[in-house]
Amino acid sequence: MRPILAVDVDGVISLFGFDSPPPSTEARYELVDGMLHCISLRAGKRLERLAEHFDLVWATGWEEKANFYLPTVLGMAELPVITFDGAARFGSAHWKLGPLDQYSGDRALAWIDDNFDESCYRWAREREAPTLLVPTDPAEGLQEVETEALVAWGLSLAAEAGD
Ligand SMILES: [Mg+2]
Repeated sequence: MRPILAVDVDGVISLFGFDSPPPSTEARYELVDGMLHCISLRAGKRLERLAEHFDLVWATGWEEKANFYLPTVLGMAELPVITFDGAARFGSAHWKLGPLDQYSGDRALAWIDDNFDESCYRWAREREAPTLLVPTDPAEGLQEVETEALVAWGLSLAAEAGD
């Protein structure tokens, strides 16, 4: 079974806090609930590559809105969505732990997010299945270096499993 890849949106695909905006070839602007979001097209391409090695799932306060907006902008397939029942708080990620734990069960899991705190790392250490937290800089989003690390991690798990 392939590992799960839980994907945050704000700070991973939707960039903020940058000094100068990315060139228009690398980003598209989308108005979501009255807020302008700068969507990284490069992050989309990288997710597409990661989908060859992982089962992707949205783990974001956007919840269903991620599938409403992002597949068309990024040219990717819709993904399963983890729901948080209104627990979402911008600028943190600890509220994702319960639902993420339930969703992932005993499967290997990587998680890309810009807001890990100590509770997230503790949870990752205590999981029995292989677990990898991948922090991002919200001004840059998902970068090449993290993408390559994730692919290598996925391949090493597959090699261990003997396929
Ligand atoms: Mg975020």
